Amino acid sequence: MILADIPGISPARAKALQESGVRTPGDLIRFFPRNYLDRRTILKIHRLQGSGEKVTVMGTVTSVTESGFGRKKRLEAILRDETGQLKTVWFKGISYFRNTIKKGEYYAFFGTVKRFGRYLSMAHPEVEQLSSTDIASQEEQQQRFAGIIPIYPGNQFFKKTYITSGLLRKWILTALDRTPIPEFLPDELLKQFGYPDRSTAFRHIHAPEDPSQHAKALERFKFEELFLFEMSVVTLKREVFDKTPGPVMNVTRPLTTRFFNDVLPFELTKGQKTALGEIKRDIRSGRQMNRLLQGDVGSGKTVVAIGSMLMSIDSGFQAVMMAPTEILAEQHHQTLSEWLEPLGVNIRLLTGNQKRALREDVLTDIAGGKADIVVGTHAIIQEAIRFHRLGMAIIDEQHRFGVAQRAMLRDKGENPHILVMSATPIPRSLAMTLYSDLDLSVIRDLPPGRKEIVTRVLRESEREKLHRFLTEQLLEGGQVYVVYPLIEESEAMDLKNATEGFDQIRVEFPGYRVGLLHGRMSTREKDEVMRDFKENRVQVLVSTTVIEVGVNVPNASVMVVEHAERFGLSQLHQLRGRIGRGARQSYCMLLTDVKQSREARSRLRTMEETGDGFRIAEADLKLRGPGDFLGTRQSGLPEFRYADILGDQYLLETAKNTALEMHDSDPGLSHPKHSALKKVFLPYLEGKKKFFRMS
Ligand code: ADP
Ligand code: MG
Repeated sequence: MILADIPGISPARAKALQESGVRTPGDLIRFFPRNYLDRRTILKIHRLQGSGEKVTVMGTVTSVTESGFGRKKRLEAILRDETGQLKTVWFKGISYFRNTIKKGEYYAFFGTVKRFGRYLSMAHPEVEQLSSTDIASQEEQQQRFAGIIPIYPGNQFFKKTYITSGLLRKWILTALDRTPIPEFLPDELLKQFGYPDRSTAFRHIHAPEDPSQHAKALERFKFEELFLFEMSVVTLKREVFDKTPGPVMNVTRPLTTRFFNDVLPFELTKGQKTALGEIKRDIRSGRQMNRLLQGDVGSGKTVVAIGSMLMSIDSGFQAVMMAPTEILAEQHHQTLSEWLEPLGVNIRLLTGNQKRALREDVLTDIAGGKADIVVGTHAIIQEAIRFHRLGMAIIDEQHRFGVAQRAMLRDKGENPHILVMSATPIPRSLAMTLYSDLDLSVIRDLPPGRKEIVTRVLRESEREKLHRFLTEQLLEGGQVYVVYPLIEESEAMDLKNATEGFDQIRVEFPGYRVGLLHGRMSTREKDEVMRDFKENRVQVLVSTTVIEVGVNVPNASVMVVEHAERFGLSQLHQLRGRIGRGARQSYCMLLTDVKQSREARSRLRTMEETGDGFRIAEADLKLRGPGDFLGTRQSGLPEFRYADILGDQYLLETAKNTALEMHDSDPGLSHPKHSALKKVFLPYLEGKKKFFRMS
């Protein structure tokens, strides 16, 4: 059967449906209502209050009139039953309703009733024509009309052609009658959770008899997709990831020990020790490590990365560390060189902006095995690098990269161990889905002696106060970041830009050196400014968000963020993580316009209230939703049609446990009772494999 076989779907309508992604009767069935109208109670007109109640009334249309011109145009119909009459009115879809609603015919209207003086009126009701005006059959018609009526994203959704919710309802019911819908969940599962079979479930979605039927059916569809997802996670994890051999590393060798005993100027925190222990276990196991190291900004992930790379070098392998920005790569290169070169470790930097001769030299060292550690940007995966013997690949600030980049890095060696690091403390359910292929290590503690950062939201009018405060801080020897959201002035948004701010700050603080940093500067210029700031030759660094991730200048203790409302909370948390790294009391000043909405300001108050990245991430996630929160589609977040990973956490856990049990009892789904499931699952699994670049 095709769409056009369904009575009422004209070629024009079929086209409109197709353009909205509804191509087959199956798509039509999967097109779920956005809402339900509870029309189980029908009122006589004299019982209406006009207080905004949503009701159904039934009666005969006694007049249909059009009035007004242009935008004031309206269509009015009077509906009468034996107790009174009700005015109904349309401002939109006038030509459609003018042709549909006929004087003298019997209808049911559903909508909100309001009182205007002596009149009751209902605007834009849902309309359904009933077949007869014969009083005797009205009772029976009421029975049929009453019920829970699904409302589909109709008129607005199919912009070009006027398709009402009522039409969709009819077509979907026809499609349901004519389309065979096989079950694929095993009987046992349906029984265990009390779910209706698939065909019944669709019926309960589109024509529920009571709200609980619809709720259970919807849960079934959510479970179905979460279960398939979790099945793929378990299967891939147990059959692919956990079975992929990795370089076997023997860790009791000299460099690692010397680094931790003689070089590192501080004791490891408990979290760092635990993480290193887990990594050590992984790399000795003979299996490839795939681990996510999560730790708030400033928790000291870099040291864990260094430890991991040294273990690798001690075992005769090379290591690579990839960072999302040049500034960060350069900074890692500096830190590593400072700490590791005295131990005789050879570290090379690889970025996209290097001179050709230098790059050739670096590439030769990597291929020949002379480079022990390679630090760099995306260039590492883009360039045609060949490693001599890569054993450990680390991705810093993982949230800036996607699954694809991880796979490309993995392909640079023969299954090197993979450690990805992230400061985005994503909530558990999101981590479970997003990083389903990774084991998790979490650093929960911060290095000792960190002082809490004082955060304040400031208005434009408080700028003078801020100026005095900055003067004081500079006098005491502190350094200041000033961050702007955009590089260049955009007329539309009227934002001050970093360049302008830079000029102004130079005038305002004549006794100090001010530096400017933005993404359009050359690598050399950026390096120079960063180095000057790090060595306190520059006291105020005016910057765009290029300093957002990873930058480490412990003496900098003040962060001013201009137009703070333009940033996401997690981004502000990252920015704030640039300070509070040294002995000084640190301050974060978030400037925002008075014109900003109260909502925007209260959002910023979250930053005043807490320094806990986890709480901030949760608030941010709630405000923005997972897709936006994580950035792009390439983040690897699976797209669920019905389930919502935030709202359906409990169901996600259930699906996970069910998948684990299923895989325990019948890993290949070879039992006959699982054959339908297998048929659906195998293609799904193939899709996931492609996603992880494994086939
Ligand atoms: P992040 O987890 O945000 O990448 P970093 O690795 O940049 O954090 O570490 C932040 C700062 O804390 C660095 O200056 C680092 O040298 C310091 N640090 C890391 N671990 C410890 C520790 N155990 N004790 C004291 N300072 C530490
Ligand atoms: Mg870092």
